[in-house]
Amino acid sequence: MVPGVDETPQPVPADHGELAASASGLDASPQSTPAERDAAPARGSGLDASPQSTPAERDAAPARGSGLDASPMMRQYREWKRRYPDYLLLFRLGDFYEAFYEDASVAARVLDIALTSRQKGEGAIPMAGVPHHAVDGYIARLIRGGHKVALCDQVEAAPTRGRKLIRREVVRLVTPGTVTDAGLLEGRQNNFLAALVRTSGRLGDRLGVALVDITTADFWVGETEDVEALTEAVLLRRPAELLVPESLPATDPLLARFRDAGVLVTTRAPAEFALRTAEERLRDHFRVAALEGLGVGGQAAAIRAAGAALAYLQETQQAPPSHLTRLQRLTLEDHLVLDEAAVRNLELVESLQERTTRGSLLWALDRTLTPLGGRLLRQWLLRPLRDPREINRRLGAVEILVGAPAVLEGLRDQLAEVGDLARLASRVALGVAGPRDLVALRAALRPLPGVRERATECADPLVQETAAGLEDLAPLQKLLEAALLDDPPLTAHEGGVVRESYSQALADLRREVREAKAWIAGLEARERERTGIPTLRVRFNRVFGYGIEVSKTHLRLVPEEYVRRQTLVGGERFVTPELREQEAKVAGAEERQNRLEFELFDELRRGVAREADRLLRTGRAVAVLDVLAALAHVARERRYARPLVDASGALEIQEGRHPVLELRTEGPPFVPNDLALDGEEVSCLVLTGPNMAGKSTYMRQVALIVLLAQLGSFVPARAARVGVVDRIFTRIGAHDNLLRGQSTFLVEMTETAAILRHATGRSLILLDEIGRGTSTFDGLAIAWAVAEHLHERCPGAKVLFATHYHELTRLAAELPRVRNVHVAVREWRDGIVFLHKVQPGGTDRSYGIQVARLAGLPGEVVARARTLLRELTQRAPAPAPPATAETGQLALFPACFVFVNNRIDEFLSFYFFHFGID
Ligand code: ADP
Ligand code: MG
Repeated sequence: MVPGVDETPQPVPADHGELAASASGLDASPQSTPAERDAAPARGSGLDASPQSTPAERDAAPARGSGLDASPMMRQYREWKRRYPDYLLLFRLGDFYEAFYEDASVAARVLDIALTSRQKGEGAIPMAGVPHHAVDGYIARLIRGGHKVALCDQVEAAPTRGRKLIRREVVRLVTPGTVTDAGLLEGRQNNFLAALVRTSGRLGDRLGVALVDITTADFWVGETEDVEALTEAVLLRRPAELLVPESLPATDPLLARFRDAGVLVTTRAPAEFALRTAEERLRDHFRVAALEGLGVGGQAAAIRAAGAALAYLQETQQAPPSHLTRLQRLTLEDHLVLDEAAVRNLELVESLQERTTRGSLLWALDRTLTPLGGRLLRQWLLRPLRDPREINRRLGAVEILVGAPAVLEGLRDQLAEVGDLARLASRVALGVAGPRDLVALRAALRPLPGVRERATECADPLVQETAAGLEDLAPLQKLLEAALLDDPPLTAHEGGVVRESYSQALADLRREVREAKAWIAGLEARERERTGIPTLRVRFNRVFGYGIEVSKTHLRLVPEEYVRRQTLVGGERFVTPELREQEAKVAGAEERQNRLEFELFDELRRGVAREADRLLRTGRAVAVLDVLAALAHVARERRYARPLVDASGALEIQEGRHPVLELRTEGPPFVPNDLALDGEEVSCLVLTGPNMAGKSTYMRQVALIVLLAQLGSFVPARAARVGVVDRIFTRIGAHDNLLRGQSTFLVEMTETAAILRHATGRSLILLDEIGRGTSTFDGLAIAWAVAEHLHERCPGAKVLFATHYHELTRLAAELPRVRNVHVAVREWRDGIVFLHKVQPGGTDRSYGIQVARLAGLPGEVVARARTLLRELTQRAPAPAPPATAETGQLALFPACFVFVNNRIDEFLSFYFFHFGID
């Protein structure tokens, strides 16, 4: 907080009338000095009409009709606003932070506060304000609303001699991508700031990116010519804010993608992205002579992005982000690459329908016990591995933990006590940690020896190696234990932070206060005794301090040394020199005590900051242990199996289950299913079956099993063999994502195009109901052509092709590596029962009418549809010549085609395709 500024909460005013009046030169309370008014104003209390400005500020104020308030204060405002044009500037006026002009309208709208004006009439300036003591809450709402906030505070209690204005400075910049307040952060999610640079050169277009989470010290950089994939990789991490050079055209499709995803886009001067500047900045920051040492040598685009991100962080933070000591490379080649469509369609981190974590794979899998582990699991999930050796290392660790339940649960018991080491350490390093942060850190450190002990009991190389990364932080923990009281206040300025036993000076001060207070407390009894006045009382009064009150009847007994201060209703109030002295001791000592405690705290914080690197390293180790233990816990609980992961082209699953669906508690039990692809003889399955049979579920479950295996988790299956894949592509039926509000067919084709462009012989491709977004005939034709293309161009690619068009089963006859499977249903009475069992061979019927009946279509419509279908099928061998509705030749089928397709030409296409080919 800013020194000299009163922090006492003030009531929220009903309106801003006083402020508006003050600008027009209404008289201020004459009894207070300007300094008092500025330091402790009382807007809304009705005491002081113009607390926010000094007389000098007021005198210069009137500038009516000019449209611009030319008062020095408003000039000061505009100067700061000029320096921070894209921030919503909150300007401290006495007890309030005010926004003016455009900012005022925005603040009023976002914060739901009154929009008033500073001056009436023509020169009125829109204004909206919030009480200073509640500003954090308001900042939080502005940030969540996608705004950036600059806090311009009064940095002196009264104008410096010879000046008219109180000095104000921007003391804090808060932006969505750089916030550090715990209240604004999602514990189990990183809060990334992204920076993008596009370069074009001899080697073609390249994209450089940086992703920094200043709250956890994660710093990723990367560059590639695969602009699309890298963009996706950045989007998947849901950055809160994106930095791009101003020179990037506003129409660049890159920007639209981020804006659509709700990312705040901040443009920066191109100079911030200049290679030289960026290189220098990185060298300085990481204290290296050459960037090769950071693993980014020669990566101009990545360096430029990282440099720009670092510059922005240096600008927005109060302290240099010195805790960012590692750069990690964001590469595509060595990981399983997922795009946004796959993450969305496979419901990896949120469900398609509700768009909440509930119902997602992460939700089903995340049994981590620390925010550190939670964030890491999300990272692993979005970036599974591709190297079978690395994957098997993780699987090996999980297996050992699964096999040693006592060790596993012991370890988890300890982990449960570890807090958010990374975020706490970052706050400390940035100098924004308060007493409660250090107390939380202390608590987070306590279980670490236990974690290490349990982990070293576990005979697995990865666990052992990880445990070795747990630093010995016991001395730090002991220091915090010794120094800090258990329940300190939020800030370190009001005392109550440091233990007496930690500092002799503090103990002395505290004793002094205690003694003086005890002296005062005993005064009443002593004086009663001494003076013989039985009703004498020692009372404290907020205005006059301590006093001795004597009622009228006893005034004659008052000793000489009593000094009269005040007449009361029934008596008089006195003080004695000694009482004044003791009182001063209390006040002075309390103040010194608070100052001393702050100094001790600050010293402690700087000491902890020097350990930030070790804390972060330990945090990373805890995260890995937490994730491995969580995976093992889930594997045990749900009887997952260790998959055999290798570099083959095979994908075999026995009794696989859907990891999320199998958790549902109502409904019939989940039916497990098998899969067998070898990548050589069989690489593509055409999966048929009526709507609701379980096709989409089956395809997703296959993809999720592959993904789980490659992130190092056991899988929901009796057994599985997974030859690693390089990418997972998904194209999921049009009406499954109507939510997106775009032309669904266009989305479908865009996604399909991306698949065809990027798929390789090592990819896993799910095509669910492809072509459903257009007419039947178009759809079938497109689906057929796509299947052919993949089959020829990407031999080995594992393709699952689900469709309720049973016509596509003919693909198996035409293409060598294609097989048919279907999800079985049983006909029962005149309906069907879904068995959810995947079996060899195709279906020859769509069962559309049965499904329609199940869905509750009225009985007579169903009956009529059956009749029509029967007639259609009978006529099939000799289809009627093309006809139009007007000729009436198709009078037999109207109900059916309205029901199926709505358009007669489409119906006919379907009709001929269906029966003409056979
Ligand atoms: P389709 O894609 O064939 O239309 P879905 O995959 O959407 O069918 O499945 C429809 C519903 O059937 C699912 O919501 C689920 O409740 C149920 N279901 C699917 N597969 C199974 C299964 N293997 N075991 C049990 N229920 C299943
Ligand atoms: Mg489906």
